[in-house]
Amino acid sequence: MSDITLGIIGSGQLGSLLCQAAKKLKVKTIVISDDEQGPAQDYADEFIFSKYDNKDKIEEFVGKVDIVTYEFENIPVEILNQINKEKKVLPKPDINKVIQNRKLEKTFVNDLGIKTTDWAFIKSADDVKENQELLPGILKTNTLGYDGHGQFVLNSLADVKKDWCFTADYILEKKINLKKEISVVIARFSNGETYTYEPIENVHKDQILKHSKIPADISPKIFQKAQSNAKLIAEKLGYIGVMCVEYFIDQNDNLLTNEIAPRVHNSGHLTINAFNISQFEAHIRAVCDLKMKPLKKISNAEMNNVLGDEIEKFKNRSFKDNEFFYDYKKKEIKDKRKMGHLTILKS
Ligand code: ADP
Ligand code: MG
Repeated sequence: MSDITLGIIGSGQLGSLLCQAAKKLKVKTIVISDDEQGPAQDYADEFIFSKYDNKDKIEEFVGKVDIVTYEFENIPVEILNQINKEKKVLPKPDINKVIQNRKLEKTFVNDLGIKTTDWAFIKSADDVKENQELLPGILKTNTLGYDGHGQFVLNSLADVKKDWCFTADYILEKKINLKKEISVVIARFSNGETYTYEPIENVHKDQILKHSKIPADISPKIFQKAQSNAKLIAEKLGYIGVMCVEYFIDQNDNLLTNEIAPRVHNSGHLTINAFNISQFEAHIRAVCDLKMKPLKKISNAEMNNVLGDEIEKFKNRSFKDNEFFYDYKKKEIKDKRKMGHLTILKS
């Protein structure tokens, strides 16, 4: 029995699934979110609806919790730092500062000797011109990107439109002819112990995750490397909690680190049914400093994201014993919005 109250910033499906895992561990949850309809409020012990810059509400939240974590990385670092002065925020806010900034993130990874796609920092059309060896490439906003938002494919210099005024900072990445995408979910504890899930193979459609499966169809060498890179990154960040490293594998079997998510990850949803301890439970255990057990795979599995109005047909469907459907119960259906997921256990 724990007597910890965990504060969670953000109220989407990751927040919901974190709250459910916390309940299992008898950890009390208080969710704060600027989304009045956020589904996690149905699973939290308490819900505070507030803009993240509302000092009074943040103060109320901080007063009620022992530890704070978050379900998305794009929270202003100043707010996390502010909270961290009173209650420990895990993962640490300065980690977030690196990861929410593609330039700092890629520099950090490259400095560890880990390969990424070739890239350059871009502030103007001239910068694109100077880095045209990266074309065809993808121009990505340096901060605040998710699910492909803020990304533009540049096939040639002609795609840089005259009226673009480059009000934000970007990075330009060489476009990879992808053989495969994989991810590694890892939990690191305050005593330095790490627990690494096996690599998950992912398929994206329109830059949004559509399908994940284990085992990933990869060589033992890539399997090892993907896990050891994730471990090195977690160690060097002094990370506490669950994080995910997304990788590209190119046609020549090069393993390239795409990005780090400082949180539980969509590709890890199959761990709920396929492992003895899910990524959500591992995260709660790590940030609350609860005892951990070795990870054990129960079954192979695949997971399909249910996007937008696909949810309608899932609501009326029946499921087999090896199928586990999660309806995020979002109030509004939006095109390509993550509405739920289905995990199928496989032999
Ligand atoms: P987000 O922050 O939106 O998740 P990502 O950088 O992970 O952004 O891009 C989303 C997806 O777009 C990737 O998983 C991949 O499928 C595709 N993508 C992104 N960058 C590249 C690239 N340089 N080459 C090929 N595909 C890419
Ligand atoms: Mg991504």
